[in-house]
Amino acid sequence: MAEPSFVIVGAGLAGLRAAETVRAEGFAGRVVLIGDEPHLPYDRPPLSKGVLDGSRSPDSTRLRDESFYVDNDIDVVVGRRVAALRPHEGTVELADGTIVAATKVLLATGGRPRTLAVRGADLPGVRLLRTLDDAVAVASELDPGAAVVVIGAGFIGAEVAASARTIGCEVTMLEAAPIPLGRALGPDIAERYGAHHRARGVNLRCAIGVDAIEGTRRVQAVTTTDGVRYPAEVVVVGIGIVPNTELADAAGITLGNGIVVDETCRTSNPAVFAAGDVADFHSTVVDRRVRRESWQNALDQGAAAAMSMLGKGSRYCETPWFWTDQYDLKLQMAGTPEPTDDVVWRGDPDSGEFCAFYLRDGILTGAVGINRPKDVRAALALIMAHKAVPAELLADPSIDLRKATR
Ligand code: FAD
Repeated sequence: MAEPSFVIVGAGLAGLRAAETVRAEGFAGRVVLIGDEPHLPYDRPPLSKGVLDGSRSPDSTRLRDESFYVDNDIDVVVGRRVAALRPHEGTVELADGTIVAATKVLLATGGRPRTLAVRGADLPGVRLLRTLDDAVAVASELDPGAAVVVIGAGFIGAEVAASARTIGCEVTMLEAAPIPLGRALGPDIAERYGAHHRARGVNLRCAIGVDAIEGTRRVQAVTTTDGVRYPAEVVVVGIGIVPNTELADAAGITLGNGIVVDETCRTSNPAVFAAGDVADFHSTVVDRRVRRESWQNALDQGAAAAMSMLGKGSRYCETPWFWTDQYDLKLQMAGTPEPTDDVVWRGDPDSGEFCAFYLRDGILTGAVGINRPKDVRAALALIMAHKAVPAELLADPSIDLRKATR
């Protein structure tokens, strides 16, 4: 019998983590990690932070050295796209026609940035930010004093705005919703984030649409739906991602808000698995189907899918964890706060250091901290344990939550 061969499509964090996991678990067959970007797997979070503001080199984002793949006998194939899955034949086909044996396949194909459907969105100088090459291109244009318009004030947009201000660019950030970051952070904290951006010189305009991007050979301005024209030498569009589901779709695999997987990361085809930004799964934390776009989920779900490929899968339980760094504000979020939850503040929410705890019927469901990493870490353990925590303990900054709730 031919040796088993696991093919991992997508050489991002989830794909790499899966490859590492199968080897760490002693899988002796072939492991092929295929990515269409021309780089070994790298970390995306620094792209909108250190790589843009110049505090990190592009090379420093690499997740593993070349020797790691050799030492672990992982065939890493970069700059090549998988064009078709043929699970019934036990193969995948690359865009150049190469056929690769695949006993099992993991789809860790991530997502691509949503594009803006307005006139001028294809002009040179209008940038998206998802890949290392995108980040290097944007960074090369962020000169001190340059007029930068950021479209979308979600996490990526807000981080780009912060990095550009750090360099000394003149930044306008345009957001269609009434507040920046509101969908993820809820109004209390999101309003304060908006204030931090304004205090640092970002011209933040909310509840506004983009009418057109103007320019002849290159972008020159962005016009909003109220007729205001913002001069722009660089425009960065950060309006979300679209999951890369096309391969799965063509192979007849069930799709929802991404590639639908069961509780062990298996798709509707028993030989095909999915993990990371592309996977639509049932979250045991919120008890509904979700698709996460977070580093922690890509890491953990990549490992969980690998265990399932090995036949050792168990129910995937996500650890709800997210962070964003903007200026000197390091925000961490644990759990899944909802707008209807009760909020208990630890520290002054108008300062640069506080934590908001979210309670539902007395049970801790979420925590968002700015420059309070220990509080958020402690809250995560309590959230995962579905603990009821007295509000007075949460509110007192002198209390170590870890010790007080043992
Ligand atoms: P990806 O990293 O997208 O990897 C998928 C790979 O598959 C890509 O290289 C893609 O090109 C490739 N691919 C797709 N189709 C094919 C094909 N047919 N053949 C071959 N290859 C294919 N999360 C946080 O929690 N905190 C942060 O601060 C944070 N900051 C971020 C900043 C930026 C700029 C970005 C872009 C993301 C950030 N994230 C952050 C999110 C986090 O990085 C992602 O959730 C994570 O990288 C997703 O990993 P993934 O492996 O699922 O997908």
